[in-house]
Amino acid sequence: MNANLLQTPIDYLKGVGPNRADLLRKELGIHTFQDLIHLFPNRYLDRTQYYKIGQLQQTNAEVQIIGKITHIKMMGEKRGKRLVATFIDDTGKMDLIWFRGHKWIRDNLKINVPYVVFGKTNYFNGHFSMPHPEMELLADHEKSIRAVMQPVYPSTEKLSNSNITNRVLHGLMQQLFSEAKNSFTESLSKPLLKNLKLMPKNEALFNIHFPQSQEHLARAQYRLKFEELFYIQLQLIRKNLLHKSKIKGYHFSKVGEHFTTFYNDHLPFKLTDAQKRVIKEIRHDLGSNAQMNRLLQGDVGSGKTIVALMSLLIALDNGFQGCLMAPTEILSVQHYNGLLELCKPLNTSIELLTGSTKASKRKEIHKKLENGELDLLIGTHALLEDKVKFKNLGLAIIDEQHRFGVAQRSKLWHKNNYPPHVLVMTATPIPRTLAMSVYGDLDISVIDELPPGRKEIKTVHRFDANRLKVFRFLKDEIAKGRQVYIVYPLIQESEALDYKDLMDGYESIVREFPLPNYQISIVHGQMKPADKEYEMNRFINGETQIMVATTVIEVGVNVPNASVMVIESAERFGLSQLHQLRGRVGRGADQSFCILMSSHKLSEDAKTRLQTMTKTSDGFEIAEVDLKLRGPGDLMGTQQSGVLNLRIADMIKDTEILKIARSYAMQTLKNDPNLHAEENKPIKVALSQLMKYKNIWNYIS
Ligand code: ADP
Ligand code: MG
Repeated sequence: MNANLLQTPIDYLKGVGPNRADLLRKELGIHTFQDLIHLFPNRYLDRTQYYKIGQLQQTNAEVQIIGKITHIKMMGEKRGKRLVATFIDDTGKMDLIWFRGHKWIRDNLKINVPYVVFGKTNYFNGHFSMPHPEMELLADHEKSIRAVMQPVYPSTEKLSNSNITNRVLHGLMQQLFSEAKNSFTESLSKPLLKNLKLMPKNEALFNIHFPQSQEHLARAQYRLKFEELFYIQLQLIRKNLLHKSKIKGYHFSKVGEHFTTFYNDHLPFKLTDAQKRVIKEIRHDLGSNAQMNRLLQGDVGSGKTIVALMSLLIALDNGFQGCLMAPTEILSVQHYNGLLELCKPLNTSIELLTGSTKASKRKEIHKKLENGELDLLIGTHALLEDKVKFKNLGLAIIDEQHRFGVAQRSKLWHKNNYPPHVLVMTATPIPRTLAMSVYGDLDISVIDELPPGRKEIKTVHRFDANRLKVFRFLKDEIAKGRQVYIVYPLIQESEALDYKDLMDGYESIVREFPLPNYQISIVHGQMKPADKEYEMNRFINGETQIMVATTVIEVGVNVPNASVMVIESAERFGLSQLHQLRGRVGRGADQSFCILMSSHKLSEDAKTRLQTMTKTSDGFEIAEVDLKLRGPGDLMGTQQSGVLNLRIADMIKDTEILKIARSYAMQTLKNDPNLHAEENKPIKVALSQLMKYKNIWNYIS
């Protein structure tokens, strides 16, 4: 389509007067013809034909199906409570689901009588369901009038109040297509279209607004989703490449004495293949003239610390300083002690800087940092204070990324003349597919292997009624010399109540595990830091056998002798939290256990969470389930949600398309970094439009 025509203000479309134009701009952000074309329908009403359950496709269309209800039951509790009817035809079965109006529906539904159901289908775990279907007895339905397949556009209250109905929008779309005469410029290259058998642009845009059939619609959606994800990936990957060519980094040309001595003589264990691979990736970055910007993902206990240390040693070998920042005092103290021990034979100077470092010590550290006497600085946020000035910071490592915002990351950056290399480590597995989008511009390393000899943590779910048995089990384990965590939820909204639960629980545990045979530590958020630390240390040193705590122990503590994790009210924890907590045990040689306690009242989601925990210990698998349950926005927090603001693709459901799009984007840039090739011209044009208009769908011309 002619670029000028597409940029025509929406006022000039036949049927749009000044009032409507104003509303379209304000309510839907539609300024031009182009914007209107990319107003994609939310869903479709298809009453043109009847579908068999066996032939349903994973589109978001609404369909009608003829079949019978075989039985009805209530499922879930509280807000998850719903009425579920099993609905069958001769090709398969699906669920009809109601979250409201249970009684009326239950009283009126007829079993084993033919119905026509109409609604949007959901697909999850190989199974289709239809929430709140429109239902009509087949006998009645045969007398009624059918409509055709119709797109349903996003709307707002103001629009419908002003009579800009779906029908009106559809009419405008028709007008637009008749003016544009279906001549949109193809924005993907010929080889891409051919290899992936993608629907051409013209056809896809036409079918997204005027679907000719379910199959056409599915292909149109696929093509447009692919395009959306492809251009996001293309931009991210290009940004990464540009960053590498533009942002000069310190060139760590050699691997010197520190690294080599440590590697040859002082490694406390044999590195796993995954650790070796990741160290190699980091070494490659550090020697490449570009500033490293790498995310290191590795499950709890996968051994990220040694990777951090060896990277820091490379910095030292090249005459630079390094720092390691952790989110809590306890964790930075542990890092400090651990690294101090590992570095003993190496003749390096290490200091710890946290909020509770004394003023005189602090002064000394500042001085030694500035004159270069100090090699490595470990600490908390305190590292980010303005007074902390490195002589030549070459590598900054940040542990547990999810606790630090991006702003803080960049603060570290600007500490010296050139940005230091940055390695961000996280134990919160982000599903690979999501990481591709959220962190697409970072390089990602993954430690996907646990050190050898780790026994799987046996995880079970027990109901509160079985508490006595659980206590007996704890006693047996303690008798073998092991230590036990008992963790209570602490959720801000119900803080007072949670605190009471914790205290009640603590008292019952004290009764069950009396002095002098048993020593118990307690740590919670309302204690002074010094008291917390005192209690923590008693447990770390083995003076107490039981640690009763709220989730303050979530991040990073390492007590290898602790081999049992009891999580109270486990149904109230999120999956990633449960996984993190479980990671506190299984650090020593003993068989470890995780016991998830809950009441009998479980929502469906809670059941899924607990089942997932007992079924797998793979952090990535858990993260995928978490993503499905919670949605990406929630998982990542709001700061990155912009990346996920997609028009047509869905970050959860379309991960397969995302993978393909990413690999094609990479391949394209690898073969033709500047997109000079003739066949990539459409991509180059689209990309430059994209840069210009900053909106993924504003690039066609
Ligand atoms: P995380 O990735 O959670 O930070 P750590 O670095 O704290 O994991 O390592 C967890 C434990 O595993 C530590 O006690 C560490 O000494 C040990 N460890 C790390 N790598 C190996 C290895 N290759 N072989 C044996 N033990 C290892
Ligand atoms: Mg760690």
